[in-house]
Amino acid sequence: MVIHPKIRGFICTNAHPVGCAENVRQQIQYIKKQTPISDGPKRVLIIGCSTGYGLASRITSAYASGAKTLGVCFEKEPTERKTGTAGWYNTAAFHEFAKADGLYYHTINGDAFSDEIKAQTIAQIKEDLGQVDLVVYSLASPKRKDPESGEVYSSTLKPIGESYTTKTYDTDKDKVHDISLEPATEDEIAQTIKVMGGQDWERWIAQLHEAGVLAPDCQTTAYTYIGKKLTWPIYGHATIGRAKEDLDRAAASLRSTYKDINLSAWVSSLKALVTQASSAIPVMPLYISLIYGVMKEEGTHEGCIEQIYRLFTEGLYTETPTLDDNSRLRMDGLETNEATQAKIEALWDQITQENFHELADYEGYHAEFLRLFGFAIQGVDYDADVDPQVNW
Ligand code: NAD
Repeated sequence: MVIHPKIRGFICTNAHPVGCAENVRQQIQYIKKQTPISDGPKRVLIIGCSTGYGLASRITSAYASGAKTLGVCFEKEPTERKTGTAGWYNTAAFHEFAKADGLYYHTINGDAFSDEIKAQTIAQIKEDLGQVDLVVYSLASPKRKDPESGEVYSSTLKPIGESYTTKTYDTDKDKVHDISLEPATEDEIAQTIKVMGGQDWERWIAQLHEAGVLAPDCQTTAYTYIGKKLTWPIYGHATIGRAKEDLDRAAASLRSTYKDINLSAWVSSLKALVTQASSAIPVMPLYISLIYGVMKEEGTHEGCIEQIYRLFTEGLYTETPTLDDNSRLRMDGLETNEATQAKIEALWDQITQENFHELADYEGYHAEFLRLFGFAIQGVDYDADVDPQVNW
């Protein structure tokens, strides 16, 4: 099959197995060039391990610290007519590389919100690892089925309190235009907290602890985005931000509940990057195109793998982590500092349909978007016939 990208709106509906493998290889290569983390994690559970920040966490654990990695993800395998998802191919590639390098790997594909997948994961830890010393919680999902009530909650991306009008960039139509977003109802806020808040993270930790598979001094982290003034109305101070605040509540509760094993629970704040999750958020493609331009010029641009390697070395595995007033690990300073934000705000005010491509790094944004699905990667022959049937 010859595979070219099929883009519908903000999503690409297919993926390229060779390109995805190359993407994983490049991230592994990056980590291999860094200083190893000698006192890093050795047995790691990554919930949301197949793309974005979770995949980078898996690669960093395995290749900077020699860790055995057990991953959980929700990906589609290829069929006769359709390619697998990017996360499917990424995971297959990670397995291949890890196998060649003599590293333990195992991945469970299923709904991480369910108790069945939690039980399956616990059984696998008991069988292969005994215990884990790091649990990374990196899920991004529009829906969550509550295992107790059976109710399906949906997350919403809306402002809170009042409607908000701002600029956005429609990647599909190549158009800068205004959008008005109506404020969320109380029910929409509550549902978003159910999906993206701390409840499921707490449920994972409770069940892992109950089963005795969390090692003494275990660490756990969930990822958040805090951002600044330009994104607050649609992210930080909006429905998704409310859900992320619930992660802070959960982290504090986890720290006080599991003192018996001296559990460290952190919310880690990461920078805005193109991932499958962020490209679905209004305003983000425009904002990210601008910060990519500014940060590349400043020489401070980082991708998922660079951010996560720094999180491990400057946050999770150092005696002197930088914490903010809410005890969060902050890795987003290169984006959120006043000077960089001032440059982005100045550009934001000037952006029009006419000057968008000149002022923003949309080419960089778009190339990275395509890379998420294994496309636009140098050295990959996209006219070649490839077999989409890749198994783990
Ligand atoms: P992503 O879409 O690249 O990855 C999501 C992962 O979750 C995938 O591995 C997917 O398979 C898995 N997943 C989704 N639903 C699942 C389910 N029901 N069961 C099992 N696995 C499931 O997302 P990302 O951007 O890497 O986001 C990960 C975390 O990082 C999120 O909490 C997000 O809010 C946070 N974050 C993202 C950014 C950003 O700009 N992308 C910035 C800061 C923080």
